[in-house]
Amino acid sequence: QTTLATKVKDPFPDWKAGEPVPYAALCTTFSLIEQTRKRLLIMEYCSLFLRQVLRLTPDDLLPTVLLMINKLAPDYAGIELGIGESLIMKAIGETTGRSIAVIKNDQKEIGDLGLVAVKSRSRQPTMFKPKPLTIRGVHKGLMDIATTMTGTGAQQKKVDGIKKLLSAADANSTGKVDITKDKGGPSEAKFIVRFLEGKLRLGLAEKSVIVSLAQAMIAHEFAKKGKVPSESDFSKAESTLKTVYSELPSYNVIIPAMLQHGIMNLREHCKLRPGVPLKPMLANPTKAITEVLDRFEGQTFTCEYKYDGERAQIHYVAKDAPKSDGDLSQVASKETGKGVAAIFSRNSEDLSQKYPDVLAKLPTWVKEGTKSFVLDCESVAWDTVEKKVLPFQQLMTRKKKDVKLEDVKVKVCVFAFDLLYLNGEAVVEKSLRERRGLLREAFKPVEGEFAFASSMDGQELDEIQMFLDESVKASCEGLMVKMLDGAESGYEPSKRSRNWLKIKKDYLAGIGDSLDLVVLGAYHGKGKRTSVFGAFLLACYNPNTDTYETVCNIGTGFSDEVLQELHASLSPIIIDRPKPFYAHSSGGQHQPDVWFEPKFVWEVKTADLTLSPRYKAGMKEGVDPSGEKGISLRFPRFIKVRDDKKPDEATTSRMVAEMYRKQESVGKSKGPAVDDDF
Ligand code: ATP
Repeated sequence: QTTLATKVKDPFPDWKAGEPVPYAALCTTFSLIEQTRKRLLIMEYCSLFLRQVLRLTPDDLLPTVLLMINKLAPDYAGIELGIGESLIMKAIGETTGRSIAVIKNDQKEIGDLGLVAVKSRSRQPTMFKPKPLTIRGVHKGLMDIATTMTGTGAQQKKVDGIKKLLSAADANSTGKVDITKDKGGPSEAKFIVRFLEGKLRLGLAEKSVIVSLAQAMIAHEFAKKGKVPSESDFSKAESTLKTVYSELPSYNVIIPAMLQHGIMNLREHCKLRPGVPLKPMLANPTKAITEVLDRFEGQTFTCEYKYDGERAQIHYVAKDAPKSDGDLSQVASKETGKGVAAIFSRNSEDLSQKYPDVLAKLPTWVKEGTKSFVLDCESVAWDTVEKKVLPFQQLMTRKKKDVKLEDVKVKVCVFAFDLLYLNGEAVVEKSLRERRGLLREAFKPVEGEFAFASSMDGQELDEIQMFLDESVKASCEGLMVKMLDGAESGYEPSKRSRNWLKIKKDYLAGIGDSLDLVVLGAYHGKGKRTSVFGAFLLACYNPNTDTYETVCNIGTGFSDEVLQELHASLSPIIIDRPKPFYAHSSGGQHQPDVWFEPKFVWEVKTADLTLSPRYKAGMKEGVDPSGEKGISLRFPRFIKVRDDKKPDEATTSRMVAEMYRKQESVGKSKGPAVDDDF
């Protein structure tokens, strides 16, 4: 770090101890970061900056970290900017006195709105010298924009909020940013606009920020005592922060606690608890029961039905529980007789408003002595007459917000499969067998309302096959097979784990893989479909480059009704040209008629995968020796909109490449890429 420290201006001249951190100081660091692709170097820049913040203005550590990861608050707070390109262009225009037409033209030429803002900024009339931006000021300004949600004039208020930030941006900057180069030079306007767009494009993943934060903190703590941390101190600090964050994903809680108690004591003070939803544990796909047996050889495992509904993480604290059991006052929650409860999605979004019926019935299945818990469940549409689960499509028809009890038409039953917290204690480190035992003691099944996931502990191939057949008859997607005993069977928040495997009936039937892809563009419909989009361009996500890589065109699997709905939801997010972080082929005939903001994720099934020069997916994963072809889907079919996934949670390029390799290794026949309806 010392060699680098000399390269980075330390401290930033306009920043004195105890004073708000200048936003320009952060942008200088961003500019250094964006000029390299080396992960270690990126983390060093990041941690050096955080050390400065710790040394000079620790009060600003929280907003600094949030601005680095392009977030304003924890996911469960439900704070979203909701800003599209047109609002940003309007704000740039109004700040700089340039017309929208001119700005649109620049956007067409330059392609990056951040750089358009910089170009426009240099023409900005400077009647008075605005006060330079600070990190806490930018965070607050953005927060104000995000929380101006609805109502008359909300859009204009958002524009005004952006204008306020843009007109103060680069107040002190004398250096010119060379917009033709896209990189380098401190530029506040550029990073404000990119933050608004949701992509800083620094190659700075949240994981790297967590590691940098741990490094900065431990170095700072040792420095105060005149010491230098050892390698093992660094790695202990990193693993502590990673674990704490996975169990309590809220910087708003962790950072103040870290500043107060020190990083090594964090685990004592920041524990999983009701009120802070965690990212759920995820499973790895398998293609055959034998693959499962190979994986778990010599260890005990258990099979459960894989219900086809929506993941629901239920948090509960009884009124007479000790205060330390958790606090639901910061999240959308409901009184439920003797306690308060909240439900969160896979994405930590609030589902309490969607499931008032589940919350109303909760007291009937929570046993008397159960005072606080976090439960992992699947909520599934339920046929009250036949007393069985209904397909996912039924669940889709439920309203998502402000659902009133009397309006609920599609009933749901909650199937609980794991317990993460019980009566004041996190139980994630216990074995699955123990957690399952606690789960069954703490709750009682109520027909059609609450049940334990059906399970079977047999270890033989034919037993598993039979259980799989039963699960399919019971309208489930297949099986989840989980490690049952020992440390490896602990609950691993936010991880796609080898200790949970999924067997889907479709994989076995050879119907193919399912992928979750981002909608980047669309083609106008022909014939019967002239008033809607007839086909769409989809992409997977590459977290290493933070880009969306095109993977197929799709025109199959849509009913007329669905096409109309999609047309309505996609039309408002049309943009003039592809975002700079879309990796797509540039040939004229391969361009979609319209492009979209990256917003929607769709589940798609495919017969198999092939290589095609027309798509970019997985190009950097080395599947094509010539390096010219990407992976594409053959005969893709639309399954459903995945409301519970954000674009950055789409299937990754690496996963697509793995699917392709797996298919190659089993020698599946392949043909040329086939685009539907083309
Ligand atoms: P998909 O839902 O398409 O399989 P995913 O990425 O959402 O993909 P996975 O980890 O792949 O999630 O599959 C696990 C999902 O299956 C969970 O998120 C949960 O919603 C659901 N599920 C249904 N039954 C169970 C069960 N018994 N145990 C764990 N998860 C279950």
